[in-house]
Amino acid sequence: MRTPLVAGNWKMNKTVAEARDLVTTMSPRLNEIAGVEKVLCPPYLALMAVASMLADTDLGLGAQDMHWEEKGAFTGEVAPNMVKEFCRYVIIGHSERRAYFGETDETVNRKVAAALKYGLTPIVCVGETLDQYESGLTAEVVRRQINGGLAGIDSANAPKIVVAYEPVWAIGTGKASSGENANTVHQKVLRRALSELFGADGADAIRILYGGSVTASNAAEFFAYPDIDGALVGGASLKPDEFVAITKAALR
Ligand code: PEP
Repeated sequence: MRTPLVAGNWKMNKTVAEARDLVTTMSPRLNEIAGVEKVLCPPYLALMAVASMLADTDLGLGAQDMHWEEKGAFTGEVAPNMVKEFCRYVIIGHSERRAYFGETDETVNRKVAAALKYGLTPIVCVGETLDQYESGLTAEVVRRQINGGLAGIDSANAPKIVVAYEPVWAIGTGKASSGENANTVHQKVLRRALSELFGADGADAIRILYGGSVTASNAAEFFAYPDIDGALVGGASLKPDEFVAITKAALR
């Protein structure tokens, strides 16, 4: 039985002071929800402040990206050992990183390997664009992203990996996938691809989240499906009532 996981990707929102306010409002309510793994992913600058606020809670902290090298001349980048000082999780390969910052399956792969080396749980994002969806290429695209992003990863690490299926056309658009479509991709494409990489047991241990316009009103539809193990939430993770309701809906 996989423990459901709900992660909030705050993206480039919230100063440190605003992050503190949001956590003050949200964390006691989230902390009461047992049986769901809860993760907050604020911007880098707020990680330290939020880490100290979460110290006595059941909530995990994640970064939104990281470099794969542990130090060096990489201006503006943040290393895995730096992330590890504050976080247990790191989002890797988000479609915004792929679209705007040149992230490729190869850089995703390096980052996943580095995350695992440092004991971080990578939340590896995959998903097709609207054009690809409309051309019937979803399975091919996400399979390629999984095979490239997770190439060479030892199957002993499989249970430490989280995958997020985030159709690009559903992110921030208010047009979520249907639960049925997401579950089909999870079950028939992603779980199968993971099984080819890590064996059936390895694939069974990996949580596959859905992401893309998840709200308090549609969350239950997703979590009703057996292969949807939680959600990666963007916009709604900045709204305490929404995020708490989504997290409650993930309870099995
Ligand atoms: C995301 O950015 O990962 C995301 C799913 O965003 P939203 O929930 O706003 O669609």
